[in-house]
Amino acid sequence: MLADDANPFPVKYARRGTDLFFNFSEYGHLLTSQFFGAGGKIVMRDFHAPSELAHLPEKVVINCPGFAARDWWKDKAMVPVRGQTGWLIPQPEVQYGLTYRNVNTLSKTDGIMVMALEHGDMKGYNNSDESMNRAESERAVRTIAELYSRFPNNPV
Ligand SMILES: Cc1cc2nc3c(=O)[nH]c(=O)nc-3n(C[C@H](O)[C@H](O)[C@H](O)COP(=O)(O)OP(=O)(O)OC[C@H]3O[C@@H](n4cnc5c(N)ncnc54)[C@H](O)[C@@H]3O)c2cc1C
Repeated sequence: MLADDANPFPVKYARRGTDLFFNFSEYGHLLTSQFFGAGGKIVMRDFHAPSELAHLPEKVVINCPGFAARDWWKDKAMVPVRGQTGWLIPQPEVQYGLTYRNVNTLSKTDGIMVMALEHGDMKGYNNSDESMNRAESERAVRTIAELYSRFPNNPV
């Protein structure tokens, strides 16, 4: 819990902690560069059943189909969790994330993620709907904008 004189936010109580997050764009770029550098090639192809993997000429196949593994390998332990993520333009000077009124934000080099967690972060549990909900994202941005509009030197 931040002491009053260490709390820069226009709210009575604020807590500070640390979290681990991968920056996908940068990490993906690093891995792909190393893969190409070592002579790797990417071939785009759709597979329609696990049996098709057996026809590949490679001796070793590592199959990582993400959520598709649930159907492919009958892995019912995989549970979808729907989230609604929006992006704001990057602000490199912002080096933190923030949770406020069921909205999570995280500043990364490629943009500021705004995750709407209306009704709590368990709301999307077991929900495989991948459609976008723009209204949810806009409400999340408005919630954060309202917080920042109350900063003494930042009237919106
Ligand atoms: C909007 C969003 C933002 C996220 N942001 C972050 C973040 O910032 N940091 C973080 O750590 N995590 C983040 N995550 C979570 C992260 O994306 C996943 O945990 C991660 O991508 C899982 O990696 P994976 O390789 O297991 O599966 P995936 O990345 O899902 O890769 C599976 C691949 O298999 C392919 N595939 C599936 N079925 C077939 C088929 N039949 N034939 C051919 N190809 C097939 C798919 O096309 C896909 O390319 C985010 C997720 C989302 C949805």
